[in-house]
Parts: sequence; C-alpha cells; structure tokens
Amino acid sequence: MRNIVIFGAPGSGKGTQSDLLVKHYGFDHISTGDVLRGEIKNGTTLGQTAKSYIDKGQLIPDELMIDILAATYDALPKQAGVIFDGFPRTIPQAEALKKMLAERNTAVHAMLELDVPNEMLIERLINRGKTSGRADDNEETIAKRLEVYNAQTQPLIAWYEAEGLRHAVKGYGELDEINAALRAVIDAL
Ligand code: ATP
Ligand code: MG
Repeated sequence: MRNIVIFGAPGSGKGTQSDLLVKHYGFDHISTGDVLRGEIKNGTTLGQTAKSYIDKGQLIPDELMIDILAATYDALPKQAGVIFDGFPRTIPQAEALKKMLAERNTAVHAMLELDVPNEMLIERLINRGKTSGRADDNEETIAKRLEVYNAQTQPLIAWYEAEGLRHAVKGYGELDEINAALRAVIDAL
C-alpha cells in the first residue's frame, strides 16, 4: 500500500500522469478537481458552493476540502495504493492529510513534483480550454489560478522537502519519459 501525492501547478499534467500510474500499478486515484466537477455536474449543494470558488480561480476552503478528501479516501478499496491528485493544495491541507493517514495507521510515502515552466503552463491551459469545456480554462481565470498556486500551494514544496518526501521530476517532453521518471521514484520506495 503506497500513498503518493502528485504535485504541480495547474496544467502541470497531474491528471494525465496519474492515469498512466493507475494503469501501471492499479492504484486508486483521488482527483479533487474531478470530485468537485462531479458535484457541480450533479447539481448538489456542495457543487454549487464549489462552483462559486472554481469559476473565480480560487481554492475551496480548507475545512470543506478536508472533509471531502476524508470521505473520498474512506470509500476507496485501497489495494495497491492511492494517488492524491490536486490535494493537498495548502499547508493546512498537508497537515490534515498527514493526520488523517496517521489515524488510519499509514502515511504519505512520496510527493512527486512535476516541474513545468510558467509560459508552458499558460499555453497548455489555454489550449486545453479550447476542448475541455472547463469554465476555469480561460485566460483571466488561468492567471488567477497560477497566482493562487504561487501564493498558497508552492510553499508545500519546502514543506514536503522538510518531511523528506519530495521528488522533483521534469514535467515536459514525452509523456512516457515523464512517466518513466515517476515510476523510477515509486519503484525505489
Ligand atoms: P491539473 O491541470 O494539473 O489537473 P488544475 O489546477 O487545472 O490541475 P484541478 O485539480 O482539476 O485543476 O482543480 C480545479 C479547481 O478545483 C481548482 O482551481 C480549485 O478551485 C478546486 N480545487 C481542487 N482541489 C482543491 C483543493 N485541494 N483545495 C481547494 N480547492 C481545490
Ligand atoms: Mg486535474
């Protein structure tokens, strides 16, 4: 059972790389972005709340997000392990994840960081916006999301470094090459 945090800026390829790791290892995959978009699609109260933040490029409040994460985690079979994609995004979320897993006699085993230059992120997200149908993949919201990432999420790099869990990988080039680099880290755990 391995718990892996996949980390990176918006558009860094967390979802794409997670899918490849799921295929290879049979991990369960928690994408908080996908969970929230599912709630929006189903028109739930939670979805309405989430939409009001996502459309502005802001983060959903920590307390709410932490509850959603725990409920999602507890509902999974957790055979091979779990990939956390899009969570944590703030230091309180990282602390909550550590506590939640400790209470379940487990822990985060690695944080895999996808490094992608800023110009490339913007280009990828604008391109994705042409087909994704995501209300937050437009130039104005993208700029806001990157700003939020730099202010609230990037400090997690030092946090995970201090925990001895951070592994940075080049997040551009061939998809398979990036995935091979991630698998090398996981295989060495
Ligand atoms: P990527 O392109 O790498 O998958 P992303 O930033 O484009 O990343 P999602 O992870 O799908 O997109 O998240 C979309 C939005 O959902 C975020 O901008 C945020 O508003 C909300 N969200 C997702 N996860 C969290 C979280 N852990 N805490 C707060 N808000 C979150
Ligand atoms: Mg995603």
